[in-house]
Parts: sequence; structure tokens; C-alpha cells
Amino acid sequence: MRLILLGAPGVGKGTQATLLSKALSIPHISTGDMFRYHISNNTDLGMEAKQYIDKGMLVPDEITVGMVADRLKQQDCRNGFVLDGFPRTIQQAKFLDKILKDLNIQLDMVINITLDDREIIKRLSGRRICPQCSAVYHIEDKPPKNEGLCDNCGTGLVQRGDDKEETIIKRLQVYHSQSEPILEYYKDKVKIVNIESHKLLEVTTKRVFEALGVDYKTLNAC
Ligand SMILES: [Zn+2]
Repeated sequence: MRLILLGAPGVGKGTQATLLSKALSIPHISTGDMFRYHISNNTDLGMEAKQYIDKGMLVPDEITVGMVADRLKQQDCRNGFVLDGFPRTIQQAKFLDKILKDLNIQLDMVINITLDDREIIKRLSGRRICPQCSAVYHIEDKPPKNEGLCDNCGTGLVQRGDDKEETIIKRLQVYHSQSEPILEYYKDKVKIVNIESHKLLEVTTKRVFEALGVDYKTLNAC
């Protein structure tokens, strides 16, 4: 199955992509992982990307698209893939069309995970991380036993910069103006399934698997 996962920050796309990748035995292709791979292996694309990242600039589409094209050509993508974090703009979606056309493959489905902005802000801004052991908490949904301290190691919990309310609001604005229009772009091209993200991970996962016609139990088998 060839899938694209879309959705605003905080809806749990990455987690769903990982679970789908396991259950369907297809690679999970995330732009974050691709960047890390190319940069740590000093590939041409990685070194180009690094120049922009080091200056705090956005990596131009040609570089990101080059990495995606390179990845989709690999053997393990033959039976499918799940793309997470790409495309992010209509421009990238058009580039992706071209890559897929050149490879003579078609997308099967776009899965759009939805959640109300207020709910996203609540979810992300309540998140606290242990800087020592990376455990993740939530002030309302998963509070630590002792306020502000990690259950595992007792270290003081912190809020990541990305999870600060003003940062989330900015990220949501970028999402609505640049990424959301992709849905309109795909409307007549590929099947789009909208799935509302639930607070409980298992509920969201069940909804996603149902939409794909995949037995939820296959997850436990892997
Ligand atoms: Zn800890």
C-alpha cells in the first residue's frame, strides 16, 4: 500500500505511521529521518541541506524532493510505503506527483488525521519531558506521581520549546496556510480518508486500521 499521512502537528501522525509501517511491512518514510540519514552519512544532499540548516534557513524543496526520490527508488519501497511529513506544501505535492510518475507508481490513499486546534494546543502545551531519560508526561492526561518530577529517575521535567503555546499557534498557522490546501489538491486525484484523532492512541489506531481494511490484530503479531 502506498500511503501519505497528513495532519497538523500534535495529531499523532508519526506514531500512526510507525504502527502502519510495522503492520503492513512497508517502510515509514519521514523527512526528519531522511535528513538525519543524509547529514550523518555526509551525502551530497545531506551536505547541501546542512548548509541551510546551520544558517537557520529552510531547506529548499529541490533538496528535500531529491531525498524523497532517492528513498522511493529503493528496493524496500516496491510493495509500498507510508510517507510522513511530506508533502508539506502543494508545490511539494506536485514534485511528488512527478517522482511517482517517473517510477510508474500510484498512491493508494491519503490519510488525513484531524483534530480541533484548541484540542491540539491543549495536548501539546501540557506535554512535559524528562531531560534525563526522555520519558513523556502530560500535566492532565498522564501526570507524574510527584508534580514536576520524573517517575523513573526523579529529574525535573521540562517543556520543549516546540510545545510552548505561542510556538504551537505559529506552527498551526503555517499548517493551515501551507499544508491544509494539499487536501484540496488531492481531492480528485486519490482517495482521502479523514480520521479524527482520539486522546487514546488505541482508538485512533483502530480508526486508521479500519479505514485501510487492515486487521488491528496484525499489530500484536509484530
Ligand atoms: Zn526520567
